[in-house]
Amino acid sequence: MSHALTDLAISELRELAANVLRRLGVEPPEPGELTARTPITGGELLTLRASTTAEVDAAIARADTAFRAWRTVPAPQRAAVVRRLSALLTEHLDDLGELVTLEAGKIGPEARGEVQEMIDVCEFAIGLSRQLYGRTMPSERPGHRLMETWHPLGVVGVISAFNFPVAVWAWNTAIALVCGDTVVWKPSETTPLTALACHGLLRRAARDVGADPEVHQLIQGAAAVGEQLVDDARVALVSATGSVRMGQLVAPRVAARFGRCLLELGGNNAAIVTPSADLELATRGIVFAAAGTAGQRCTTLRRLIAHADVAEPLLDRISSAYRQLRVGNPLEEGVLVGPLVDARAYDGMRAALDRALTDGGEVVCGGERIEGPDENAFYVRPAVVRMPAQTAVVREETFAPILYVLTYHDLEEAIELHNAVPQGLSSSIFTQNQREAERFLAADGSDCGIANVNIGTSGAEIGGAFGGEKQTGGGRESGSDSWKAYMRRATNTVNYSTELPLAQGIRFE
Ligand code: NAD
Repeated sequence: MSHALTDLAISELRELAANVLRRLGVEPPEPGELTARTPITGGELLTLRASTTAEVDAAIARADTAFRAWRTVPAPQRAAVVRRLSALLTEHLDDLGELVTLEAGKIGPEARGEVQEMIDVCEFAIGLSRQLYGRTMPSERPGHRLMETWHPLGVVGVISAFNFPVAVWAWNTAIALVCGDTVVWKPSETTPLTALACHGLLRRAARDVGADPEVHQLIQGAAAVGEQLVDDARVALVSATGSVRMGQLVAPRVAARFGRCLLELGGNNAAIVTPSADLELATRGIVFAAAGTAGQRCTTLRRLIAHADVAEPLLDRISSAYRQLRVGNPLEEGVLVGPLVDARAYDGMRAALDRALTDGGEVVCGGERIEGPDENAFYVRPAVVRMPAQTAVVREETFAPILYVLTYHDLEEAIELHNAVPQGLSSSIFTQNQREAERFLAADGSDCGIANVNIGTSGAEIGGAFGGEKQTGGGRESGSDSWKAYMRRATNTVNYSTELPLAQGIRFE
């Protein structure tokens, strides 16, 4: 589809959505109170029913029953479902990507990249199914064996955010399934159609390989539906991705029933650019991380901390790149910045820019709204704002494309500024000086879960553990040993002797 922004018609997008859903094998849902909108025009694609309290309860019950059998299926066999899912995702990569664009407003390459990330994590999970390693350790007692084994945990409740409507689900679900858990998914109420599609593909994958499709349940609706999942004692782990505000509500409720929580919350990511940095490379990394996905990634670069000697030439390069960014219809090739998700996101951006100006900030470029096809569509030029200090608005996460620029003179000062925010997700340093790079990665360097050198803050690979510290919630998902969050550990001591020695040499005779 190639259209001037102002000519886009919702009727065309509705038809596009209907065709994609058909290709993905999704039955038209029963109309209801939940509205699936496209940020491309702000218009309604279709409506569907939110899950009732009884339906949520029944979904959890089905997942709980399915778990009892699923946990005994050998992990490499459980992986067959994920292998089939990966094949279906590969077959429907473009379809699902198009649906992500329609529902979340991501540009085509990023939307397809998100589906590719799902495929990548499926492959990781398949390999993992043969590597759920426990450990053995020397026992202090003769004739004894001491070891740790990992077992399936139970029902995993997945609550996901609008901005990664499919990848975050796959990170959780592919790993949880090979670990022997079952899943109840509460997607964002902003992206119910991608959820229907993923749920359909997974159930189809399960049926295709002769596994129980009830291992996956979908419940739809707003916060109240999520709250029911959070409060249900049958849900062993609540893996929640979204704002810090949501995490602050969810974590105490799960803790109150001694459930487990895996939190992936907001970030306020920064990059330090030192005098030795390759400014050309830094500019490319910064522009993708700050303006990509219209600033709506948890890892979006929101703060640039540039050495005073390079700040001006760097800003010249960044502003010149920003002026060339095409903002517009994300379905159109060549567009690099799509719409904000909704009016609230736009209002949040406006309010943050006003506060930054009141604090003495100066807009270097961008920040203005571009006329879209409808007053309910929100297209903006990504903004760069030079700040005199790291004021309150800079320390908050505004989920929109605003890059605040701060300057420093000494690396210690830069690291202090870098860490002086409540969130701790992603971070980078651009430098060609190894001492500076190592200083940034050291224990008293970046305090984030992700710390990069000479690449931006966004666009993580699935192989590493993903997540952040402080108000980002401390959870880790995706690669490395994140799987341990989805399993329970048992320590086993086996006595193969004829004696019964006690640990610590205790005698009880
Ligand atoms: P949000 O917090 O508004 O909603 C996220 C999900 O939580 C939705 O499904 C929502 O319905 C649900 N929810 C909200 N309140 C709830 C409650 N009280 N109980 C149970 N569920 C509840 O976030 P959003 O606007 O969809 O997404 C943007 C936010 O997510 C940003 O802050 C972003 O940084 C963050 N995010 C973090 C990561 C990460 O991995 N760290 C990834 C993606 C997004």
